[in-house]
Amino acid sequence: MALPPDDHTHSEWSWDAMSGSMEGSCARAVELGLPSIAFTEHVDRSRWQIILPSGERRPAGPRVAAHIGADGCFDPPPFDADGYLAAIERCRARFPGLRIVTGVELGEPHWFAEQSARLLASGAFERVLGSLHTLRFEGALRDVYRLYDDWPRASGPAGLVRGYLDEVLRMIESAVPFAVLAHLDYPARRWPEAAGRFSPTVVEEELRTVLRALARSGRALEVNTRLPLDPLVVRWWHEEGGEAVTFGSDAHLPPNVAAGFAEAAAMVEANGFRPGRAPHDFWRRALLG
Ligand SMILES: [Zn+2]
Ligand SMILES: [Zn+2]
Repeated sequence: MALPPDDHTHSEWSWDAMSGSMEGSCARAVELGLPSIAFTEHVDRSRWQIILPSGERRPAGPRVAAHIGADGCFDPPPFDADGYLAAIERCRARFPGLRIVTGVELGEPHWFAEQSARLLASGAFERVLGSLHTLRFEGALRDVYRLYDDWPRASGPAGLVRGYLDEVLRMIESAVPFAVLAHLDYPARRWPEAAGRFSPTVVEEELRTVLRALARSGRALEVNTRLPLDPLVVRWWHEEGGEAVTFGSDAHLPPNVAAGFAEAAAMVEANGFRPGRAPHDFWRRALLG
């Protein structure tokens, strides 16, 4: 079976993918025979805290550590939309047989509704992902990846996942016109080893509430392959009325384009979704036998 389109990748136009390569990722997509590839570059406006008011410094990767403002918060480098769109045109000329889709990954777009609307008004971005990477904690924004250590012990690691899903729900219920919910299992990427394997059943009720709202909003659910998504989530998406699924490798480097897609496609098919009419379409809901 042909691989699904990769609807979530990053290139050198994303602040955290300086070693990425739009051209290299296109070449990889051609090599794999992908029907299309979308470059969904980061547009982040949330400033999350690295140095706490007490002076304590929270862990941060080198790309974040290089951009810390006077108040101890990370200043996400701005997205150069014009430069990015020119690079897309160059790649389209260079790879005429590949469908190259423009896009953005909006971080917490519901907190920046006006700026998000302004960016999207040009219509230049075809694939618009909504993402949550940060949460409000003790009066400031914090990086979800590094919040397990600080989250109240009493609620356990599942408490952080619940906090995450609550905020995702607010993002979905906002009117911001993002079309795809990216990596719903984002906190699971850093689930503490000491807590055993993460199972979505510990937050089934909250997950189903999010999936129901997502289905009502008409948006698609992304199956992000950075971490294999638990099949239960796709099963619940079908049960809660979800209509469409996209696949995203979240590759920040060319070799990671469409990584894990064969397994993900088989899993999604087993849980009630099928390729769309055209090979580059979203996968659609089918009847479950
Ligand atoms: Zn993301
Ligand atoms: Zn991403």
